[in-house]
Amino acid sequence: MRVGVLALQGDFREHISALNHCNVEATEVRRVGELEKIDALIIPGGESTTIVSLAKTFEIFEPIKKRIASGMPTYGSCAGMIMLADHIVAAKDGQETFGGIDITVRRNAFGRQVDSFETDISAPAISSTPIRAVFIRAPWVEKIGKGVEVLASYEGSDSKAHAVAVRQDHLLATAFHPEITDDYSVHRYFLEKVCK
Ligand code: GLN
Repeated sequence: MRVGVLALQGDFREHISALNHCNVEATEVRRVGELEKIDALIIPGGESTTIVSLAKTFEIFEPIKKRIASGMPTYGSCAGMIMLADHIVAAKDGQETFGGIDITVRRNAFGRQVDSFETDISAPAISSTPIRAVFIRAPWVEKIGKGVEVLASYEGSDSKAHAVAVRQDHLLATAFHPEITDDYSVHRYFLEKVCK
C-alpha cells in the first residue's frame, strides 16, 4: 500500500517520520500526479485556511475531494480533521473543506496557541493503554452524524466532553497531533484498521 502525506503546509514531515516508524514508506503529495500514485492519504496539522488556498493554487483541491469521496482511506490530524469535516463553525468566511466525515467541528475550540497542552487520553478502539495527545489551537467536534464512530473524547473549558477522535468508514480524524509524540498507535490504527 502506498501512503502519501499532503505536503503543502503544516507538520507533514512528522507524519512521514511516524509512518516510517511503522515501517511504511510515505511520499509527499503536492501535485495531482503524486496523488494518483497513492492508495491512502494523511492530511497534517497546520492551518486549514492555508491548506485550502494552497490546494487550490496547486489545483489539487477537487482531485483530493473526489478521491476521498470515492473511498481513499484518509487520516487528518487537527487542521486535517477540519479538512475532513463536512461542516465547520468559527470558519473563515466561505472556508471550504474536502469533507467526507459527517461532523461539525469548531475551529480553535480548545483556545489559542498559548492554551496548547499535552495529555494522555483513553481511546480503547485505538490502544489498550491511554494515548499521548498534543492539542495546539485544536478543534473539537460539536455535532456528530449517524455513521460516525467516536474513538476518544476530552473535556473542554466548558466542562463538557467533546469528541476529539472520530472515524467514518475509510476516514479517520483526530483533533490532536499524535505525529509529534513517539506514540504511534493512531498511525498503526490507521494503517491496520482503516486502510484494510
Ligand atoms: N486552528 C488551526 C486551523 O484552523 C488548526 C491548528 C493545528 O493544526 N494545530 O486550521
